[in-house]
Amino acid sequence: MKALCVSDKVVDFLYDPAVVTKAGDVNIIFSCGDLPYYYLEYLLTVLNVPLYYVHGNHDPQVEYTPGGEGMTGPGGGVDLDTKVVEVNGLIVAGLQGSIRYKQEGSFQHTQFEMWLKVLRMVPRLFYNRIFKGRALDVLITHAPPLNIHNGNDYVHQGFASFLWLMRKFKPRYLLHGHHHVYSHTEQTVTCYYQTIVNNVYPYKILNLNLD
Ligand SMILES: [Zn+2]
Repeated sequence: MKALCVSDKVVDFLYDPAVVTKAGDVNIIFSCGDLPYYYLEYLLTVLNVPLYYVHGNHDPQVEYTPGGEGMTGPGGGVDLDTKVVEVNGLIVAGLQGSIRYKQEGSFQHTQFEMWLKVLRMVPRLFYNRIFKGRALDVLITHAPPLNIHNGNDYVHQGFASFLWLMRKFKPRYLLHGHHHVYSHTEQTVTCYYQTIVNNVYPYKILNLNLD
């Protein structure tokens, strides 16, 4: 399965009809958050493939169109937060948001709150392991796991519960954003037990190989 993965920053040449020459053969779009809903809707419409997303900490509760219409997410996309679903034979799950760093603000969670969200997915992951032979293929998150691709500040610290989830349920991939990458020498792909952790900022086209 070939996936266009986007996060955190609008890429001008993707927000253009020429995106079909770059990504016209992808089967699915994954968004790891902090992106305008109109941008994701554009990609979904032009590429005509399913969009699965999680919210980032900078996403608004409501984004308004020029016509004044309120949108709580990209139209036609599937909000994956705390869900485990199967799409085209791929088992995908999502966990939105960043570490809570302000009292106010949507899509921020304490470490404890993220543990609770992870635990809510556990029955379905066990079900998949028993009846499908594997718990999870791709986990989409906004923030990274703790101590993998984290920033130097508290805001860009990752979640400890993601490490446990990877050790316990062995997803093939964890795709995240949140931490912006400005240097080609910075590490954006890390193997953790049996999971490839990939920071997709601002976009990557990935062959998600399950063999
Ligand atoms: Zn973020």
